[in-house]
Amino acid sequence: MMETIHIDGSLGEGGGQVLRSSLALSMITGKRVEFKNIRAGRAKPGLMRQHLACVRAAQKFCGARVQGDELKSMEVSFIPGEIQAGDYHFNVGSAGSVGLVLQTVMPALILADGPSTLILEGGTHNPMAPPFDFLKQVFVPQLAKMGVKMDMNLEDWGFFPAGGGRMNVSIEPVNELKSLSLMTRGALKNRRGRAVVSSIPISIAESEVKVLQSKLEWKDISAEEVLQPNGPGNIVMTELEFEHVSELCSSFGEKGIRAARVADKAVCAIRKYLLSEAPVGEHLADQLLLPMALAGEGEFLCTEISSHTRTNMEVIQKFLKVKFSVREQNQAFHISIT
Ligand code: AMP
Repeated sequence: MMETIHIDGSLGEGGGQVLRSSLALSMITGKRVEFKNIRAGRAKPGLMRQHLACVRAAQKFCGARVQGDELKSMEVSFIPGEIQAGDYHFNVGSAGSVGLVLQTVMPALILADGPSTLILEGGTHNPMAPPFDFLKQVFVPQLAKMGVKMDMNLEDWGFFPAGGGRMNVSIEPVNELKSLSLMTRGALKNRRGRAVVSSIPISIAESEVKVLQSKLEWKDISAEEVLQPNGPGNIVMTELEFEHVSELCSSFGEKGIRAARVADKAVCAIRKYLLSEAPVGEHLADQLLLPMALAGEGEFLCTEISSHTRTNMEVIQKFLKVKFSVREQNQAFHISIT
């Protein structure tokens, strides 16, 4: 009889990550999942549009039998089928994050029995989700060290709320993931700041660039305009490339928030990263846990541990026979699976 994993969304952080990690692991292990109290602690509990999109994507990629997949639903039953490698086109709808959908289906596709290509449409640059550039420059290079050949390209930018973005992804699977040890940054290779605007005056990006120039004094800082915009949007990205790891901090423009403030946020975030020597930032830590657990061993040193990261570890341990250990080390955190 198929094992059932019970996930109580009110535990720990209780965000969308609990749902996505569980769906990903259900697809891989073949274990059925019963979710209750989905996002119970949030102001708007239950499945929001972007979470529903992840359930639907997981269902599509493995032919799962699903109950409770409705907006605001707090209970979902997910019985996975077999993951099918292949060519997929998935529209997340409006500005739902394509990065979060990718996070849901990618772990199963990297262990599938053949290569896959995906075209994902929706939001490519959303707050509270990994922007396209983070996935490509920060996350994918670490997966490559684990043996995964994954390539991704941005075809169209999609900002909240209009969406309309599009990215393509190709994934060549592996039989087994190699273990990752990411303990040092290595030498600094590049520093880059970018202010990008879509359907709003370039002068906004230029003001942001001035702030980046005065506060960071990096050489490579640019103001850019999306050539075929789908709607208004603005992102400031501060990027560091080291020998063994990259970090990318982002901040989004919003109506009523001054450009200088948007740029400042991206500056503060990258300065905070530079205060530590640990290679892995908060978001990469979150995202490395699942592939590392699938590899069965690995370690990294991260700048901080969010409650989000701790909850993600708990969820992963419910599905896989792995044990994460966390140790404080010189004001950083050493996370390992042995
Ligand atoms: P949740 O809040 O549970 O829906 O999860 C959000 C996911 O997006 C987590 O995997 C985070 O690591 C990731 N994330 C959120 N903000 C960023 C960011 N600025 N850069 C990279 N990843 C992010």
